[in-house]
Amino acid sequence: MDTGAGAPVTVTARKAVVVATGSIPAIPPVEGLREITTWDNRDATSAKRIPSRLLVLGGGVVGAEMAQAYRRLGADEVTIVERADRLLSTEEPFVGAELAEAFDAEGIRVLTGAGAARAAREAADGPVTLTLDDGTDLVGDELLVATGRRARTDDLGLDTVGLEPGGFLEVDDRLRVRGVDGDWLYAVGDVNGRALLTHQGKYQARTVGDLVAGREQTAWADHRAVPRVAFTDPQVAAVGHTERQARDAGVDVRTVRYDIGSVAGGVLHGRGVGGTAQLVVDRRRRVLVGAVFVGPGVGELVHAATIAIVGEVPLDTLWHAVPAFPTMSEVWLRLLEAERGSA
Ligand SMILES: Cc1cc2nc3c(=O)[nH]c(=O)nc-3n(C[C@H](O)[C@H](O)[C@H](O)COP(=O)(O)OP(=O)(O)OC[C@H]3O[C@@H](n4cnc5c(N)ncnc54)[C@H](O)[C@@H]3O)c2cc1C
Repeated sequence: MDTGAGAPVTVTARKAVVVATGSIPAIPPVEGLREITTWDNRDATSAKRIPSRLLVLGGGVVGAEMAQAYRRLGADEVTIVERADRLLSTEEPFVGAELAEAFDAEGIRVLTGAGAARAAREAADGPVTLTLDDGTDLVGDELLVATGRRARTDDLGLDTVGLEPGGFLEVDDRLRVRGVDGDWLYAVGDVNGRALLTHQGKYQARTVGDLVAGREQTAWADHRAVPRVAFTDPQVAAVGHTERQARDAGVDVRTVRYDIGSVAGGVLHGRGVGGTAQLVVDRRRRVLVGAVFVGPGVGELVHAATIAIVGEVPLDTLWHAVPAFPTMSEVWLRLLEAERGSA
């Protein structure tokens, strides 16, 4: 360890070592991309000026949030290039469609099903050209690369304990790194690749804290109740499984949806509020396994769903969790009514 104050210092752990070195942007294999100056998330969040034309490679959470932020900060042209067939492609298909509609209305160009083949800059401070698989050239002043993250494990000496540097550290539910003997090497946060979110890393850290202190604990919520919020407008807030993920896991599910704008509390956010809420219900057990909300401020709605999923609250019990009038939470009532109607 180098403390920055001179000579390296060696510290010895008596009980455990926890790797929490996070992740770094993954650069996709696009010809020329590594040779030119591009933006990563750090550049995008610390820039001192607004580019007139911003190209965004990747329509996941970071790409979508930053694209909208820059458009609203005054960028004349913002174009998102996304290989999948929709924005936020790991969420329900209607989520990406609703977001794309909102983006279109404010002049953000969304190109889905579009892969980048080549990137070039004629001069270091000149415009960047992104050539798509179909030969289309897009020109921008900056190119934000937001195509995912990889583990920061290149230079930790993992090879000395028989692990391959560079990849995510695979862990069990007690956050112990697989492939290393003994109960001493743990990995928490982005570096283990389970759920690259601040709150899940903190949850895992609490779990390891308990284990190291001798209290038995496992981090099982990572598998089925991870809340995630995209801070776009409209917001997207989801927890648990999408319908597809639940079906792939062998769960027989039914989905119910409701228009958030039709809820009395929706009008508190203004006229013409749109958005959709959806529950994914395990038909056999009659409990929630997933929920997603698209609309204004829905990040605050999702924790109720997290509690319902983690607590495996039967839908017939949820029926008695009466939401206050007139709040957006009344969408819960409407969803439960819809579920009863379709049962
Ligand atoms: C643009 C962007 C927006 C995001 N927004 C959200 C959000 O809204 N909500 C959310 O939940 N998550 C968000 N995330 C994800 C969130 O930032 C990460 O999940 C979280 O920071 C992971 O925490 P961590 O402690 O694992 O890693 P980090 O926060 O990356 O911390 C790792 C630390 O380890 C240090 N380190 C690395 N290598 C070494 C070494 N060899 N020696 C010593 N120190 C080292 C690093 O300097 C760093 O300080 C966002 C990510 C991005 C990129």
